[in-house]
Amino acid sequence: MMMDQQLQSLLSYEGGPTLSVYLDTDLSDKSKDAVRLMLRDQSAEFQPVAAQEIEAARRYLDFEYDWQSRGVALFVAEGEILSVIPLAIAPNARVTYTERPNVRTLADVGSRLGKYDVAVLDRERLRLFSVAWGKIQSKTEALGEEVKHYKQGGWSAGRGRHSAGGHQRHEENLALRNLKDGIELIQQFTESTGSRRLMLGGSPEVLAQVKELMPKPLLEQIIGEFNVDVGTNVNEILERSLDVVQEVDLEMQKRCVEQAITEASKGGLGVTGVQDTLFALHEGRVRLLLVDETYHVSGYLCHECGSALMERMEKCPLCQGGPLDETPDVVNVSIHKAAETGAEVSIVRENADLLHAGGMAAITRY
Ligand SMILES: [Zn+2]
Repeated sequence: MMMDQQLQSLLSYEGGPTLSVYLDTDLSDKSKDAVRLMLRDQSAEFQPVAAQEIEAARRYLDFEYDWQSRGVALFVAEGEILSVIPLAIAPNARVTYTERPNVRTLADVGSRLGKYDVAVLDRERLRLFSVAWGKIQSKTEALGEEVKHYKQGGWSAGRGRHSAGGHQRHEENLALRNLKDGIELIQQFTESTGSRRLMLGGSPEVLAQVKELMPKPLLEQIIGEFNVDVGTNVNEILERSLDVVQEVDLEMQKRCVEQAITEASKGGLGVTGVQDTLFALHEGRVRLLLVDETYHVSGYLCHECGSALMERMEKCPLCQGGPLDETPDVVNVSIHKAAETGAEVSIVRENADLLHAGGMAAITRY
């Protein structure tokens, strides 16, 4: 899910060659100097052509970076910092100097840790979080006021199952009303964040009851759930939700790869292999581009139509224009092309089927 504004502006950036720097800045297992050394080693081969850009990146690390994230992506062009994106995960250190910003790792992080909302609740309390890029963006809490009052007057005393008197009925009514109120708040929250992917946290009993009470449109947004106490520390809730979302994404990727392969085999709405996928991208037919995370291939970039090609030719066979330049990373060119044509991108992990199909595939619009 490539929704982030910074990513969008990098995708549309056409100001010329860009130094793209990905660094693991997790200081729990290394020093700042080790990170600086990483930058120097990785950028050494571009020193003759991008000395200014490398210097700008170095200065940024020395004087401006806050070292608060596990990783960072830096983009530098014409000696100026274009964009800095803190990453919630530590990427492999990698520096490239290419015609367009190298967004492959960003796309990967984005698809791995895409946007979603988390609602953690029991019958008394509701906590809401909006997560993007592996970080909590906003949160809110609500407490069933009446339950709180009632609790002070002896909620726990009447809690036992043996008590079937009016006291317990009242308690149950309150709990039910709290859940209904909670669902309304969840709905408002998801509407305000617009992520349309909701995860639930709580005890299995409460979550079962919540799902029974939920209106269908909200129910359909649920991507997963986990068993957690509502009072759990916020970082643990985030970590648990990230585990769930990674599983969910793997499962979704698997289904999409299957769909692309099946459709391609019967000449339907799918293509597989780098050649056919590049052609479908050129024609603007791709709805979802699927790339294996380990797939790398060099090729040629047509400056006229922005398409990637596998073979060197006099003219671009797609637009009859040119010139063609070598590019070390056909996948990055393809991600840019996908963004230009409104396609989504998924960097696929742990999927042997996609590798067998050539590392690249797509679900097409027509
Ligand atoms: Zn062309």
